[in-house]
Amino acid sequence: MKVDYIVVGLGLAGLAFVEELMAAKKTFLVFEDDSQTSSLVAGGVYNPVILKRFTPVWNAKEQLKVALPFYKKIEEKLQITIDQKFVIKKAFKSIEDQNTWFEACDKPKLMAYLDPTLDRQKYEGVIADFKFGNVHETGRIDTKKLVEAYRKYLEEQQAIRFENFEHQHLHIGNENVTYKEVNASKIVFCEGYGLKENPFFNYLPLNEAKGELLTIHAPALNIDFLLKSTLFLLPLGDDLYKVGATFNWTDKTSIPSKEGKEELVEKLKKVINVPYTIVSQSAGIRPTVAGRRPLVGVHPIHDQLVVLNGLGTRGVMIGPTVAKNLYNHLEKGEELDKEIDISRFSK
Ligand SMILES: Cc1cc2nc3c(=O)[nH]c(=O)nc-3n(C[C@H](O)[C@H](O)[C@H](O)COP(=O)(O)OP(=O)(O)OC[C@H]3O[C@@H](n4cnc5c(N)ncnc54)[C@H](O)[C@@H]3O)c2cc1C
Repeated sequence: MKVDYIVVGLGLAGLAFVEELMAAKKTFLVFEDDSQTSSLVAGGVYNPVILKRFTPVWNAKEQLKVALPFYKKIEEKLQITIDQKFVIKKAFKSIEDQNTWFEACDKPKLMAYLDPTLDRQKYEGVIADFKFGNVHETGRIDTKKLVEAYRKYLEEQQAIRFENFEHQHLHIGNENVTYKEVNASKIVFCEGYGLKENPFFNYLPLNEAKGELLTIHAPALNIDFLLKSTLFLLPLGDDLYKVGATFNWTDKTSIPSKEGKEELVEKLKKVINVPYTIVSQSAGIRPTVAGRRPLVGVHPIHDQLVVLNGLGTRGVMIGPTVAKNLYNHLEKGEELDKEIDISRFSK
């Protein structure tokens, strides 16, 4: 079997790269072994503002410009709805917090997103001692629905194999690679935290940031916006809400934990004061990088080996842009953004 590309991993990174391949009518085969869950459990929120510091997300405007049409195109192609637009309401913790908001509203890179008129309304069940600030041009991609539908779509075209990719069986030729009976011009590794098992790229400084989320049923709550308080509360419809997320830098498993649940339940006490039941708990490892820039590019020795990783906490926004830049770099000689290029790390 001969293809242009082998792609290892079908999370947000793999999916974004495969979209580029399909648009260019390249042939490919994907391997996916369900070892990582980040893209399946993600909140899926896109938000151009870092609300903790009131700073813009790196290249937010440019990323949204690529990402929103990207997901729209997939919605049309797969006949699914995955993009849910909503306002994010930041619950202020103090008067100083509110004042910082006003300062941020004047920053040129933030003024398009932050509303200078504060929301003074009370919302049933929501604990808030101060006002809310509205963030616009935000929403959520249902990443689970997206990834599952996309995998099914590839399965129908026999373009995906649900099996573990075993790196030791990869044979690197002069101008191509062979994996078992599959010959390809290039192989792109989109393995998320699975990169740690990849002997070709595990020298890259990828960190794990385990995140856990709860889905709760809270019929007395009636909000149609994303509430950003001590944690986020995201409306899913039918009185269901996603609550998250934790950050754990030591646990390297994707298994939901008792500690994670307790932390979220404890924090939730400060956010809502209505009864709820926990419907489910999920966990995954965010593939993060110190400096918050992805890990993208070509292996320093073998040109045929390529990596697309390090999407961190914002895979929804960042994935489509970096996948496009990588594809254009490989196929059209476009320069790779220096900030994401793995050549910034030596092997
Ligand atoms: C709790 C939580 C909440 C989050 N919330 C948000 C959010 O609100 N907004 C946002 O933008 N981002 C969010 N993220 C981050 C986002 O999920 C990640 O940026 C993104 O999913 C990373 O995608 P990826 O494809 O690089 O990695 P992954 O999703 O981990 O995909 C890698 C894929 O490769 C497969 N794989 C690995 N090794 C192999 C192998 N050897 N053989 C075959 N297959 C293999 C894995 O099974 C996996 O499917 C969140 C993450 C978590 C954990």
